[in-house]
Amino acid sequence: MAWFKRTPKPFAEQTDKASRVPEGLWVKCPTCSQILYNKDLVVSLQVCTKCRHHFRMNAAERLTLLFDGEYRIFDAELRSNDPLAFTDTKSYRQRLEAGIKATGLNDAIISATGTLETIPVAISAMEYAFIGGSMGVVVGGSITRNIERALDERRAMIIVCCSGGARMMEGTLSLMQMAKISAALGRLDRARLPYISVLTDPTTGGVTASYAMLGDLNIAEPKALIGFAGPRVIEQTIKQKLPEGFQRSEFLLEKGMIDMVVDRRDMKSVIARALRVMMELPATESA
Ligand SMILES: [Zn+2]
Repeated sequence: MAWFKRTPKPFAEQTDKASRVPEGLWVKCPTCSQILYNKDLVVSLQVCTKCRHHFRMNAAERLTLLFDGEYRIFDAELRSNDPLAFTDTKSYRQRLEAGIKATGLNDAIISATGTLETIPVAISAMEYAFIGGSMGVVVGGSITRNIERALDERRAMIIVCCSGGARMMEGTLSLMQMAKISAALGRLDRARLPYISVLTDPTTGGVTASYAMLGDLNIAEPKALIGFAGPRVIEQTIKQKLPEGFQRSEFLLEKGMIDMVVDRRDMKSVIARALRVMMELPATESA
């Protein structure tokens, strides 16, 4: 297997404006209106130093956050072949091209292996700036192959979820990915290897309905939107007003849907501690 020398575009160069920190020297926090110095935000891992608002991160930054240093990327060359020749207001091919241009990736996923606090792990991180982090054949294939890599090499599996759901431009083929990934996670479970799901803002649709909720531990970032259908659709269906904070991490924790809400700055150490327990590895001195 070749080493992929691949450098996804830095966050600042991505063109999806809605999903990233605004450019410039100063950034206004959308929650507390504090004016933040961009360089401080980098140090604080894109978390507001005043109110802990978590700005969105891209897939490459997620990997940098979790891996110890170098990591090895796999399957970066996989591309969707537009199996249904799908067109809505734009052709799917045009949407793919726009996604590639915006992110420097070929689809909404980066899968890699490396170590996390010296523990061997395989991590797949989803990229929201690529067609809303939607899960199609490439995302499903890349994650499944990374789980199989974890199985072969006895690694823990981590998926950082960030998705609008299944990719409808690939129709039922995208829905098949839910079953495929879930089955691979079942094999991982039978091999007694842990899987941790990290739910970030937003995690919705078919991703929530499959691997996002299948972790031995499901850990969410604070105030992340996590759900299946959107609140408006639910309100129309059940004809009731939804409670305050519905579909946010803290609400889901209270209702027992997820296991933990963890500040991004503690995420790596919390995952490492959990993996050491699950893999029966000796605790470090700091732990
Ligand atoms: Zn703030």
